[in-house]
Amino acid sequence: MKALVKQHAEPGLWLMDVPEPETGPGDVLIKVLRTGICGTDLHIRSWDGWAQQAVTTPRILGHEFVGEVAAVGADVTDIAVGDVVSGEGHLVCGKCRNCLAGRRHLCRSTIGLGVGRDGAFAEYVALPASNVWVHRTAVDLHVAAIFDPFGNAVHTALSFPLVGEDVLITGAGPIGIMAAAVAKHAGARNVVITDVSESRLELARKAGATLAVNVSRTDIAAAQRQLGLKEGFDIGLEMSGRPEAMRDMVDNMTHGGRIAMLGLPAQEFAVDWSKIVTSMITIKGIYGREMFETWYAMTVLLEGGLDLTPVITGSYGYQDFDAAFDEAATARSGKIILDWTV
Ligand SMILES: [Zn+2]
Ligand SMILES: [Zn+2]
Repeated sequence: MKALVKQHAEPGLWLMDVPEPETGPGDVLIKVLRTGICGTDLHIRSWDGWAQQAVTTPRILGHEFVGEVAAVGADVTDIAVGDVVSGEGHLVCGKCRNCLAGRRHLCRSTIGLGVGRDGAFAEYVALPASNVWVHRTAVDLHVAAIFDPFGNAVHTALSFPLVGEDVLITGAGPIGIMAAAVAKHAGARNVVITDVSESRLELARKAGATLAVNVSRTDIAAAQRQLGLKEGFDIGLEMSGRPEAMRDMVDNMTHGGRIAMLGLPAQEFAVDWSKIVTSMITIKGIYGREMFETWYAMTVLLEGGLDLTPVITGSYGYQDFDAAFDEAATARSGKIILDWTV
């Protein structure tokens, strides 16, 4: 089968013929239909410091996908050939305290699909049945391909109750934009999102943000005044991993405000902890999705009319992966999809 492989420990990706994945009795073999390109994949393509310590070659990339079940192992009873499925990209140990308690998203020994084991940028991918999410209601294939990052957005946005609250999102990448759509759909009063990319801010407006603020030209305090906020934001969703965004967020929170932090900083940085203490702010780190509560929430949000199509800005055949990756690497694009059926 064709697969996009990190074949050598150097920048680049290689489209190659490789053997189909082997499956055991508890596994599902999936014919891949569409995949989403993630920042993780861009890091692995460019072979930066993170990728060099996280990935051993050769490795098939990719963790955001939708496909059709091609075969199931003898022990798999509730998934059938032909089912349309996505997959949870975090494979957990099943043995640690958190796994045993059903808190699988908190597993200490998570292995990432397309990072620590071969992934979904291929004509076929194999997964344990426990990681497979069956789409039991009709879903747009492009949207189904991005359930993994959509799950990051839902997990972050719904970390704290937000009905009627004023929400600040720093970072209008695809996950920030999806989080804006989720927060608005779920009943937030105002959703303010910040970035320095005008085209991404425009996508966020289309997705339902109340106000999309270019912080290279104006500041969040001005946005507060424009909306008539007097005491700051109730909920913060940090999606950029950038020190200045976190500092801006802390400066603009209400007393008792709550921050969910998904953006992964490249290195440690200073914040004014005295403000966090005296403003009595709660900070929660988010990694991945809750299995499978977040997946349930994603499905019902879409059934309830949540529209993610504004965030999908490009689609390429898998042979054109280089052009697709180049577009995904710009600061202008939303999600870029690879089609594995053309
Ligand atoms: Zn991803
Ligand atoms: Zn575990």
